[in-house]
Amino acid sequence: MPRLVDTHCHLDFDSFDDDRDEVLDRARQAGLVRCVAVAVDIPSAERSLALSRATDGYLVATVGLHPNEESAGDPAALDRVEELARTGAFVAIGETGLDTYRDDVPLERQVDSLRRHLALALDLDLPVILHCRDAFEPLAAVLAESAGASLRGVLHCYTGTRTELPALLEAGLHIGAGGIATFKNSHELRAALDEVPDERLLLETDAPFLAPAPMRGKRNEPAFVAHTATYLAERRGLTTERLGEITTDNAVALFGLTDVGPAAG
Ligand SMILES: [Zn+2]
Repeated sequence: MPRLVDTHCHLDFDSFDDDRDEVLDRARQAGLVRCVAVAVDIPSAERSLALSRATDGYLVATVGLHPNEESAGDPAALDRVEELARTGAFVAIGETGLDTYRDDVPLERQVDSLRRHLALALDLDLPVILHCRDAFEPLAAVLAESAGASLRGVLHCYTGTRTELPALLEAGLHIGAGGIATFKNSHELRAALDEVPDERLLLETDAPFLAPAPMRGKRNEPAFVAHTATYLAERRGLTTERLGEITTDNAVALFGLTDVGPAAG
């Protein structure tokens, strides 16, 4: 039984309202020792924190404004992120980031929001969870502003190339590998993930989105991270158990997870 952490899921979303307990049971059975419930806005951070409490910390929560959420550019919402983060109840700042694929929020406002999240992460010495879609260059430019600072975090659901990788690793980031890595046509992505050092690799689902093969097309859930683990372990010439240990150790250290025991399943 591999010991795994899903470092990025949205279990507060209403797509889990009918069977959230069963989803959590299946996660435990699949060897998951923690799931990081990632917020996309203030209500989502509050719901994720409530879930964390209801599960005695099996889920851990984050606080931040997704770049496509309307509130991303709202100063009052950013103040509230800071207020919540300073309570100490959240393990990370995010998700934040840049996304030019959708234009709900102008890039300039996304950049302002990202800067504010990064400053908060540095101030509180918390990891940051970054989303990047069609925005590598502006993201790398903002990250470069923090060069030399002790920024740490993860670029989640990495979909970039080998050439984009060095700037992210230099910025102190881990790389989150999700279901897309298992898709048939993701050759370029797999070549990039092959170059991520063991100590910077994290596993995630981004549930309810982007289920890995062979579950592609279904609603994603944390237990499915095991499929991605098996797939990537094979590419690295490791057992799934070994890759699970490596990536779980990385997640425990990055998010400061405590009392993480053996896999239940
Ligand atoms: Zn997400």
